[in-house]
Parts: sequence; structure tokens; C-alpha cells
Amino acid sequence: MITGCAGANEPLNETRAEAKAENAAAKSDQKQKNLPNIRMLATGGTIAGADKSKTSTTNYKAGAVGVDALIEAVPELQDIANISGEQIANIGSQNMTNQTLLKLSKRAGELLASDDVDGIVVTHGTDTLEETAYFLNLVIKSDKPLVIVGSMRPSTAIGADGPSNLYNAVKVAGSKEAKGKGALVVMNDRIASARYVTKTNTTTPDTFKSEEMGNLGVIANDIYFFNDIAKKHTKETDFDIAKIARLPQVDIIYGYQSDGRYLFDAAVKAGAKGIIYAGSGNGSISDEAKKGAAAAMKKGLAVVRSSRTKNGVVTPNPELEKAKLLASNSLNPEKARILLMLALTKTNDPQKIQTYFNEY
Ligand code: ASP
Repeated sequence: MITGCAGANEPLNETRAEAKAENAAAKSDQKQKNLPNIRMLATGGTIAGADKSKTSTTNYKAGAVGVDALIEAVPELQDIANISGEQIANIGSQNMTNQTLLKLSKRAGELLASDDVDGIVVTHGTDTLEETAYFLNLVIKSDKPLVIVGSMRPSTAIGADGPSNLYNAVKVAGSKEAKGKGALVVMNDRIASARYVTKTNTTTPDTFKSEEMGNLGVIANDIYFFNDIAKKHTKETDFDIAKIARLPQVDIIYGYQSDGRYLFDAAVKAGAKGIIYAGSGNGSISDEAKKGAAAAMKKGLAVVRSSRTKNGVVTPNPELEKAKLLASNSLNPEKARILLMLALTKTNDPQKIQTYFNEY
């Protein structure tokens, strides 16, 4: 604060200008203090993608732009948050590995445990975004907002959806309303639970849907939440990321007419500790696949039936339950794989694993 008169060598108007500048800085400091501190963890994807052509929306390079450039591209973020970023990876999400997933989750957990961070935004490729989002939903022991965001059009395209998705993601991550809701996917003006949302279309910006269960909310300038999720998540989690150095190998076998047991044998031979069978309909499994599953279970693997229909509940089946073939509840095959990896870090007991599938 400037008080008193200008000195003899100090022209009055200069002092006034200084005072004005200091005042403005103090005001803006005050404003910054009122804004949430949001940390952005960037992993790549189309949201960080670029191409020479503005009309190209398919053959671009994913993960071409760094985290600082992503933040600078949306100056309006500075009005809603104190935003800072760090680069965890810069890859297409088809290349996301268990190791990178662990690195991202541990960092997100560390940051959310700090008093200096009010919320996290993870930027991610859309192809496997739901897997990462569901993993975070299962391992982050915090009720601070945790938002995963991507885009379907690269940053260089006409009508790029990245900037508005990012703006909305930061807005949600900084909101009180998003507290305790688990990991959220914010895309295309929708707020979805990581537990329910899935990618449904190869190219269109409205690809993320929570088909049976519905979204949790929408963003129409303001944030409107309508639903909560009924499944356990984040703060209530049984899984302790700090104790996990490696995730066990879990493979997915897709069911189809004439499928054979050799797929199960190959997974066992390759070192799998668990198998998700993406069965037809209500997790139906062919007689040949059943033989493969039985042989795998004899070797100590857990086998879980999910459904290639991607919607609905795979219901318990007494005959298959007797054979210790588990059911994925309403998790699609790729999310069932995420939960089974985590479940296997805790137990090999099929009954206990089934409880996880019922609860999460
Ligand atoms: N292949 C890209 C990725 O998942 C697609 C995208 O981000 O939309 O990284």
C-alpha cells in the first residue's frame, strides 16, 4: 500500500501510477485467492492433437501439444481458476499402459492430499479414457473434484471441441458441487460418472454416453447436477494405490460363434492372472470357452463374464456360479478388466472378488 506524499525527486503522477498498479495487483491477488487451485495432469490424446489441415479430423497426430500450450490456448481459464499443469505423458490413449496409469494415479492422489490443490483435471485421449477414469474412481481416496476430459477434434481443427471441454472441466473441478461425486468425465456439456460412461461412437463429439444410468449433470454456463452414483468410489475405496507397484495381467477374450478354448490357454501361457470373457447377451459362454475357463480357473485364474452388448447387467447364473465363473454386474469388458486387476491385488478368493463386482 502506498501512503504519504511523493518525495522531492518523485514526480506525483509516477507515484499515483505506482499506487494504481499496486492496487490493481492487490485486487487481482485477492481475486486469485478466491479462485480454486486446479492442477492439470496432461497425458496426450486428441485434445493435445495437431494437424497441418484445419479440416482434418481423423489423420492427425495425437499428443502433439504440451500442457502449457493447452492452458495458454484457453486464456479464459485464468478467470475461473489458478491453473497450473504438469505432463504425465503425451501419448494416444491406445498406448496407455498399466505403468503410466499407476504413475498418473499416484500423482493425482498426492496432489489431492495437499491443501494447496482444490481439484484435478486430467486430459486424456478418448479411446481408453473411460478405463483411466474408472481406475481413478476406484483408487483416489479423496472427495475433492477429479475430472477427466478429452476431445474428439484436434486442437487445429475447425470447431475443435477441446477448448470448451477443457473450460468446462476446469469449471467443474473448481466447483463445490463436484465434491464427493467420484471421478467425473466432462465432455460435450455433460458431466458423467466414470462408473457409467462409455465411448459409443468412433468420431463424433457426442460420443460419450451413460446409456442406461444417465449422466450426473450438465453444464449450461452454470453447473447443474441431477444424480449421484450408487456404487462405491474414491473415498470409500478398499484399494490402496500406494501399496501397488505393479498391476496383474488381466486379458479380455471376446466371445463369438465358434470361439475356442485355445484363447484361454494362450492367456494362461502368457501369464494372465485373470480373464474377462466378453460373452454374448447376458454373459453367455459357449461350451468350448467354458472348457477354457475351467482350465484357467484350475490354474488359479479368476474368470469374469461380462457382455459384448455393452449394456445391462450380467446377472448371476447358479450353474456358472457353482463353477466359480463370476459376473461383471453392469461393467463393460474394459472396465471389468480394470476392477479385476485391482481386486487381484487384494485377494484370489472368487467370492470376495464377486463382492467387489457387486459393490463397485
Ligand atoms: N486415439 C486418440 C486417443 O485416444 C483419440 C482421441 O483422443 O480422441 O488418444
